[in-house]
This record gives sequence, structure tokens and C-alpha cells, in this order.
Amino acid sequence: MKAIQIVRPGELRLIEMEKPVLTEKDNVLIKMTAAGICGSDMGIYHGTNAAATYPRVIGHEMVGVIEEVGAGVTHLKVGDRVIVDQVVSCGHCYACRIGRGNVCGSLRVRGVHIDGGYREYMAVPEHDCYLLPKTLPDTEAVMIEPTTIAIQSCSRAGLCEDDTLLILGCGALGSSILKIARLSGARIIVADMVEEKLQEALKNGADYAVNIQKQDVVEQAKKLTEGYGPTVSIDAACTKDSLLTLLNATGNAGRVMTMGFSVAPTEVNQYVITSKELDVRGSRLQNKKFQTAIDLINEGKLDLAGTISHTFPLEKAQEAFDFMDSKDKSIRKVVLTFEEE
Ligand code: MN
Ligand code: ZN
Repeated sequence: MKAIQIVRPGELRLIEMEKPVLTEKDNVLIKMTAAGICGSDMGIYHGTNAAATYPRVIGHEMVGVIEEVGAGVTHLKVGDRVIVDQVVSCGHCYACRIGRGNVCGSLRVRGVHIDGGYREYMAVPEHDCYLLPKTLPDTEAVMIEPTTIAIQSCSRAGLCEDDTLLILGCGALGSSILKIARLSGARIIVADMVEEKLQEALKNGADYAVNIQKQDVVEQAKKLTEGYGPTVSIDAACTKDSLLTLLNATGNAGRVMTMGFSVAPTEVNQYVITSKELDVRGSRLQNKKFQTAIDLINEGKLDLAGTISHTFPLEKAQEAFDFMDSKDKSIRKVVLTFEEE
């Protein structure tokens, strides 16, 4: 079968590899139909993702149809359309024992530490698969994964309708967070440098927009909250200075969420955290949020239609990655598709 492997940073290759066979009773064999390209996939390709190991078949937004089931599989059947959870955890360490397998001490993420979805078939345990909403096409279904990341950050933040939320960054991550955050009933301020993205965010339910190229985000966030500051801030920009900016902007007793993986040193001080008794919380990947996302779609609360801007067949992954690198303004979500046989 065909697969896309990042051999080493900067080198993407279309390879032939052995089609997986079902060795575990609880496993299902999935014929892949769509796999999203995420910013973090680009990071692995460019060698800027510190967590990744090489060579690696990447892709963690994995959608397909079940072709074969192991003898012990009880919930899924051949023909079911599913999305695969990217998190593989040990089940025994402290994080796993308290139900936070997404930060397992020996965490293995599909497409990062172990092979992911840019291949024609994969075999995974049944409990890592989630049934897709019937009305959602496979290409759009890849967006369930970014949605789970957004659900994770809002849930880690304990976001509720009393909150005023500041989302810094209106890119792919920020847009997904906005879609989930608005369901909480919180007031939402978005901030970005690109006016078009701010306008899009306002259309998608943000209450206020701050253009950080023209305005000071800390000052504006305070002004929009009667001087108090937002009660929750989520860093969806993940730049060198974003953490300090959000620590400064957030009001007393607020929560500040980090989502970035930058290792660039950034200057923060204790005063800004202690004096306001801020909670600074990381949000990584997602912790069993696929069903939550799928339920929201099935209940009609979340619409992923129209989120895919481009598709490329698996064989043209290089072209797709070059296109992503072009930073073309038309790029929203780019998805790799698999040939029908
Ligand atoms: Mn992703
Ligand atoms: Zn563990």
C-alpha cells in the first residue's frame, strides 16, 4: 500500500509499505478515505516539531471506512465510517490514572511518535474509533479533530456563560476555538493582525475584534470589559510574546490557557500571576473529546460544512505541502484524499 513518509525534516516521500493485518482481537482495519493537513504536520515536515521522531508516516486527522474487524470487536462493523483518536496512552501512569491520558507519561501520538493516517490502511483498537455523523462527508469529517482540540481548551479553561473570553489568534486554531466557545454563552473578544480574519470571526459569533496591528490588545481587552480584563484568555497565536500579553490582559482570578509548543524563551514575571491569582493552564491535544464533537454535530449545534478549501490525492502530498507553504490567502483546510477502487 502507499503511504506518505517524512523521512527526515524537509524530505517527504511517497513510499510502499506492507498493508497492516489484524493481529489483535480488538482491532479494526480501516481503509482511509481522508486525512487533514494540520499546522503541526507542516511542523514535522519542516523539522520544527520537537516531539516528532523520524522517519514518520504523519497525519493525525484520520478518517476512513472499516474494512475488516477482529474477532473481539463488539461495537463496530464492516462499512462503518469512522474517525480515529490520535492519542495512545499507557493507562498506568499518574496522568492516565487520573483520566488524563492525553498527557500520559509515555504518550504516543499517531502521526507524531507512531505512524499516522497518510497511508491507505491502518489497524487500530476499536475503542479509538468514533462513528461519523451520517450527513458529514469524509473530507469535512477531518475537521472533527481540530474541533476536539478546541473543546479541550474550553473545557480545561472551565469556560462558562459568566466569562468574557479573549482568543488571541484567528487562524485555524482560533477559529475552531471560537466555534466551540460561542456555545458556552461567554462574551468573546478576538484579536489578530489580519483584518479579514477578524471580520470572519465577527461573522462567526465573536462579539468584539481587536486588530493588534492598530490597537494595544491589553488596553482594548480592558476597555471592552469595564476595566476588569477578560476572565479567560486562550493563546491560539502561540508567539514569543503571547503568554505575557495574555497574563497582562486577563482579569483577577482569571484563567490563561497556553496551547503552543514554542521553546523560545519568553519573559514573564511572578507578580503578574500572583497579584491577580491567575491560573495558567496548558491544553494539549484532547482527552476523549471525539464523541463530544460528534454529538454537537448530530445535535445541529456545530456545522463543519464549507471548512475545506482544497483537496489533493495522497500521491500529490508534496504538491499539497508546497501549496500550504505558499501561505496562499485561499487556504483554509487542506485535505488529502484516497483513490476509490
Ligand atoms: Mn490537527
Ligand atoms: Zn500513561
